[in-house]
Amino acid sequence: MSQILVLGAGMVGTSTALHLVRRGHEVILIDRRAPGHETSYGNAGMIQREAMEPYPFPEGLGFMLRAAFKAENAVNYHPSVLPSAAAAICQYRRNSRPPHYAPLAEAYGKLIEHCTDEHAPLIAQANAEELISRDGYYHLYRSRETFRKESETARRLAQEKGLKHHEIDGATLAETEPNLRRGVAGAIHWPDTWVVSNPGDLVTRYARLFEEAGGRLLVGDATTLKAEGAGWSVQTEDGRVQGEHAVVALGPWSDALLRSLGYRYPLFVKRGYHRHYRSPAPLSRPFMDSDRSYVVIPMQQGVRITTGAELAPINAPSTPIQLYRSERYARELFDLGEPVETEPWRGARPCTSDLLPVIGPAPRHQGLWFNFGHAHQGFTLGPVTGRMMAEMISGEAPFIDPTPYRAERFG
Ligand SMILES: Cc1cc2nc3c(=O)[nH]c(=O)nc-3n(C[C@H](O)[C@H](O)[C@H](O)COP(=O)(O)OP(=O)(O)OC[C@H]3O[C@@H](n4cnc5c(N)ncnc54)[C@H](O)[C@@H]3O)c2cc1C
Repeated sequence: MSQILVLGAGMVGTSTALHLVRRGHEVILIDRRAPGHETSYGNAGMIQREAMEPYPFPEGLGFMLRAAFKAENAVNYHPSVLPSAAAAICQYRRNSRPPHYAPLAEAYGKLIEHCTDEHAPLIAQANAEELISRDGYYHLYRSRETFRKESETARRLAQEKGLKHHEIDGATLAETEPNLRRGVAGAIHWPDTWVVSNPGDLVTRYARLFEEAGGRLLVGDATTLKAEGAGWSVQTEDGRVQGEHAVVALGPWSDALLRSLGYRYPLFVKRGYHRHYRSPAPLSRPFMDSDRSYVVIPMQQGVRITTGAELAPINAPSTPIQLYRSERYARELFDLGEPVETEPWRGARPCTSDLLPVIGPAPRHQGLWFNFGHAHQGFTLGPVTGRMMAEMISGEAPFIDPTPYRAERFG
């Protein structure tokens, strides 16, 4: 059995550490904060079993023009992102089209199809049932045209991937969701997806399982990682700790560490915002307002609005125009009430140019492993890729063929 350092205690790192410690390894999980306090805290809390295809780069001249003039709520951008991320974003656009997209989507689906099965035992062991709702979410359509088009896509996806879905017309939706303030064309209900009413707390509970199994949780700075002897060491508040192996699971911060080790991968972030509201009218489940590109989710802290993608450097100052717009749009449909926080929360989805996470050994460093780049579904996928990583490090055959996700694909 080995000594292993896992860097980053988001959903991905915490799940990796848990799977490793349960295989008998001595594992130290290191983060500069408590587990689940960054991206894995602020997301929409969905374990997205229906997300069998990754988000492609949006198509259409109309979309591009609206995005260019900042009139598109799905996307905002800072021009300052271009020097560092233009190449990766252009590759992302290319990989979102035929013939590249289909095999990438196939590989993505191979991970997603295990998400609820892998979360289920951890949720049970963590006594976290009260955080979970297993009744899916709605894609809501204001326009008849988008409802018709998206219903066709949903039928294809449901049939090809064996997913359940229900198409609900506007009149039926108004009856079943009395808190919807105005009529819409309809909604698609994806019942296979699970919703977590406090995503950060679920990570905290998985981290508790890790500690109960004998793992150590330490506060430390991953940028102090250095090769030492036959392994790796990191500076923590408890001194320098060592391991034969180290796993990089730093989500959107992985790129900075990788660069210091000489890896230049086509990574970028899609930032996103959220804010909670003291809504007096409960929502039955999350709604994605598909014509306006935001999600509202009933959470423990209030109704959470999450936004689409902002292409910007990870540390650039917040520009929450999408959140303010989304709030305006959401108030057309729901009684939101007053905001809970004075300022919106900001996070960053860790993205790769080929829409797949990076899972496997580092190409040029013995004992170093990568598990990052889960983009829009890292909260969903943490236990899946965490198990794969633990199996690989332990010399077992991973339960999903790791070939499409290997780091070598980037050279
Ligand atoms: C608005 C929004 C909505 C989303 N909705 C969903 C959703 O509904 N479902 C879903 O599956 N996904 C969703 N996502 C994506 C999901 O949140 C991410 O893919 C996922 O949280 C990534 O997890 P992670 O563990 O890789 O990264 P993180 O959760 O960010 O964890 C990385 C950890 O590394 C630590 N770290 C960073 N630098 C250092 C350092 N130098 N030293 C020590 N520690 C360090 C951080 O403190 C952090 O704890 C959403 C994202 C956003 C922004």
